[in-house]
Amino acid sequence: MSHTAELIAVGTELLLGNICNTDAQMISQTLSALGINVFYHTVVGDNPQRAKEVIQVARSRADIIITTGGLGPTCDDLTKQVLAEAFGKKLVFHEESARRIRDYFARRLPHRTMTENNLQQAMLPEGCTVLDNDWGTAPGCAFEAEGCTVIMLPGPPRECRAMLEHRVVPYLRHLSEGVIASRTLKFFGIGESMLEAQLRDRMLSMTNPTLAPYAKEGECELRITAKAATAQQAEAMLLPVERELEAQFGDLIYGVDVPNLESRISQLLREQGLTLSCAESCTGGLAAKRMTDLAGASQVFSGGVVCYTNQVKERLLGVSSRTLDTYGAVSKETARELALGCARLMGTDLAISITGVAGPDPDDRGNPVGLVYIGLAHGDQVWVRRCQLGSARDRVRNSAVLTAFDMVRRRLTGLNVIKEEP
Ligand code: ATP
Repeated sequence: MSHTAELIAVGTELLLGNICNTDAQMISQTLSALGINVFYHTVVGDNPQRAKEVIQVARSRADIIITTGGLGPTCDDLTKQVLAEAFGKKLVFHEESARRIRDYFARRLPHRTMTENNLQQAMLPEGCTVLDNDWGTAPGCAFEAEGCTVIMLPGPPRECRAMLEHRVVPYLRHLSEGVIASRTLKFFGIGESMLEAQLRDRMLSMTNPTLAPYAKEGECELRITAKAATAQQAEAMLLPVERELEAQFGDLIYGVDVPNLESRISQLLREQGLTLSCAESCTGGLAAKRMTDLAGASQVFSGGVVCYTNQVKERLLGVSSRTLDTYGAVSKETARELALGCARLMGTDLAISITGVAGPDPDDRGNPVGLVYIGLAHGDQVWVRRCQLGSARDRVRNSAVLTAFDMVRRRLTGLNVIKEEP
C-alpha cells in the first residue's frame, strides 16, 4: 500500500520569515527516497487553535503526519498537547525520558541548573514509541491511531536530521512492506524540463520502478526507485531501467549515485594518477572552492589562481599583453593562454581556465553578461568553449564552473571535450 504524508512545521518564526523551513526539505527528501508520497507541507504558528485546525485537515488527506518543532520546554511548545488531544490520547510522564533530560544537563550543560519546566519535555502521548534524542533534550515520539501514523520531531535542524535518520527511517520501514532501493543518475548538459519531456510517457506508464527527475543548480538528476520483497529483488529491478536510460542519454549522464561533478572528476583524476589546477577570473575561486570542499582533494587538485585583473593574467599566468590588447580578457585566446599558463605555473597535468562577464553589466569591450570562455589544457593540447550562461551573476558563475568540470570529465572519459551541439 502506498502512503501519503503531510509535514506540519510548528513555529511562528517560520511564518514571520525569520527562518526557512529547511526541516521540511530534508524530511521530504528522505520520505521520497523511502517511496512515501508527500502531498502537502503546512506551516502554522505557535497557536493551539490554528494548530488543531491544521491537524484536522492533515488527517483527512494523509495517513502519515510528521510535525517539526514545538517540543521544547516553554509554554509556546504546544505540539504534543494539540496532537494528543486531536487523537484522544493523554500525555503521561515518561520516566526514562526525564532521566535522559537530567543526564543531558549534567553531562553537556554542567554550569547550568536545569529548570523544572524542562521535564515537560518528558510528557509524551500514552502508548507512543519514544524517539530518544541523543542530540538535544526534547524526545520525539510516534504513535498510530485512527488509521494515521503521527510522528513528532524537534525543530532544531541538527536534532531533526539525526532523529530522522536514526529513529524515523527505521520506524517507517516497519510500516511499509518490502524493501525500497533507488539509484540516482546525475545529468549535466540537459535541463529538467527537457529531461522530463523525453521521459514523460515512460514515467506515466511506470508504477514499479518509478522515475522522478529533480532540478539542481545547473544540473539535474533522475531517481529510479523500485520496491520488492527483498533488497536483491529491488536492485535487480533497477538495473534494466538504468541500462535503458544510459543508452538513451549517453554522455549526458556523468555519474550514478555520485554527489556531484567535482567528486566524479576527482575520482577520475585519482584513477588516472593526474592532477588539476585552475585559473579563474569571473568565478573568483569558486572552482577551487568546490574542488577543495572534497576531503582528500590535495591528491588531485594542486591549487588555483584568482586572476581577476589583466595584470595578474599577464604577470602570473603569462598571458601576452598582445593577446589581452587585441582580443581582450574575455576571449578564446586569453582562455587558451590562461589554461596553458596555469598548468605550467602549477605543474599540473590538466588546468582549467574561466574568463567571462558575470554581470550585472557588460564589460568595457561590450561583451554581454553571461558570455564566458572556458579553457582546458591537458599537456600541450587546449580546448576552449564559448558559452552563453544567462544573466544572473551567481548563475553565470556556477554554470561556468560546472561546464569547466564537465570538460574535464569528458576529457578523462575519452569523449569529445567540447560536446557538439545538436
Ligand atoms: P527546542 O527544544 O529547542 O525548543 P523545539 O522542538 O521546541 O526545540 P522550536 O522551539 O519550535 O523546536 O524551534 C527551535 C529552533 O529550531 C528554532 O528557533 C529554529 O531555529 C529551528 N527550527 C524550528 N523549526 C524549524 C524548521 N521547520 N526548519 C528549520 N529550522 C527550524
